Amino acid sequence: MRDPKTFYVRTYGCQMNELDTEIMIGQLENRGLSRVAEEENADLLIFNTCSIRDLAERKVMGKLGLLGKHQQNNAIIGVTGCMANAKKETLFQKLPHIDFILGTNNIHDLNNVLDEVLSTGQQSIRTDDQFTHELDYLNTKRDDKLKANVSIIRGCDKFCTYCVVPYTRGQEVSRTPSSIIEECKHLAHTGYKEISLLGQNVNSYGKDKPELNCLFHDLLYELDKIPGIERIRFLTSHPVDITLELMEAIRDLKSVCEFVHFPLQAGSNRILKKMHRIYTVEQYIEKVQMLRSIVPNVSIGTDIIVGFPTETEEDFLETYNVMKEMQHSVAFLYTYSPRKGTPAMRWSDDIPEHVKDDRLQRLTHLHNEITAKQRQNLLGTSLEVLVESVNEKGFLKGRSRCWEKVAFTGSPDLIGSLLNVTIHSYSHQTFLGKGALPP
Ligand code: SF4
Repeated sequence: MRDPKTFYVRTYGCQMNELDTEIMIGQLENRGLSRVAEEENADLLIFNTCSIRDLAERKVMGKLGLLGKHQQNNAIIGVTGCMANAKKETLFQKLPHIDFILGTNNIHDLNNVLDEVLSTGQQSIRTDDQFTHELDYLNTKRDDKLKANVSIIRGCDKFCTYCVVPYTRGQEVSRTPSSIIEECKHLAHTGYKEISLLGQNVNSYGKDKPELNCLFHDLLYELDKIPGIERIRFLTSHPVDITLELMEAIRDLKSVCEFVHFPLQAGSNRILKKMHRIYTVEQYIEKVQMLRSIVPNVSIGTDIIVGFPTETEEDFLETYNVMKEMQHSVAFLYTYSPRKGTPAMRWSDDIPEHVKDDRLQRLTHLHNEITAKQRQNLLGTSLEVLVESVNEKGFLKGRSRCWEKVAFTGSPDLIGSLLNVTIHSYSHQTFLGKGALPP
């Protein structure tokens, strides 16, 4: 095998995976490899995979299978990410042309695995159950020059019955506050304006390491002090761990955006219990109301799964009614699909696909009605926008603090600025504005 000079990487799945890819790119570029945009031109191919949905897995397996048949330049092929942990050695049996498998908790070892494959010519695999090694965060290679994802906690201890994450990423491990602060200062110094703090459950931050004496809200207070970081976002949250102190931090800290992803998953207590979500609908509603009373302009996002095993029409209508009451401004809506290795696999996937699809459509329709009303209410108001780029029609575009997309006319010199934009109309999901002024 020849020492690779170029690499191609493709990422599937969530922002956590995107960040892991950026960290791996940093490692490979430091080794002297150049990234290429076309896989045909690469000596090393990395597929950073996702296991969250059956469809995501099938896509990757299809792609990797094709590579085995058509690959011409004898590139080294590595599979990283959640599928690596979920499938382990069985991937070698199904895809014998793969050279290495590197789990989510082993990405620090990418260069060592590569060396091993090069020196032995044999397949190599590392898939630890726990995240134990610090990563080289300061050498992360990001394409975006204004907004950066920053990992603060990895893994999840919640064990929702439908979810593979606790099995693919392991238990919660918080990163030290000093390491996070160092990275965020470095980002501010290099011109980044917005950071998104990432974890499967960011609100658990610090609980696994009481000796650090720093919970999630404490971390926010520290990061808010960094000059140059104008905006702080965070995801994902578990409703149980959203505390009063966190709500007060959102209210009191200028940089922390007033947008909270607050995943409901289901509006029926029976289904929530079966999902092991460890809250009731009443507790969820009470927390959202508390957040809204403390941060009146907050926007709330959610995830909802329809068609979970045994979900009746009555259960679904309860979900529908909670969404109607909560008026989520962002919603990721899914139909249930069973995932191997999860407790929910032992139940029959008994809701017919056409029923799942029908429930999804009704919920999507409701959410469209909710957001249409919210869009109307924003007409004539002014939104603070971080100007990110120029779109294909020549408009400047960016996002508001509450995640609305905004486009308006102006000079490209304004990219990187925070501006107040008065909204006069909207088209699909994008608000159109005028009169951009510094806030
Ligand atoms: S909180 Fe539940 S859904 Fe979210 S990552 Fe953990 S186990 Fe999965």
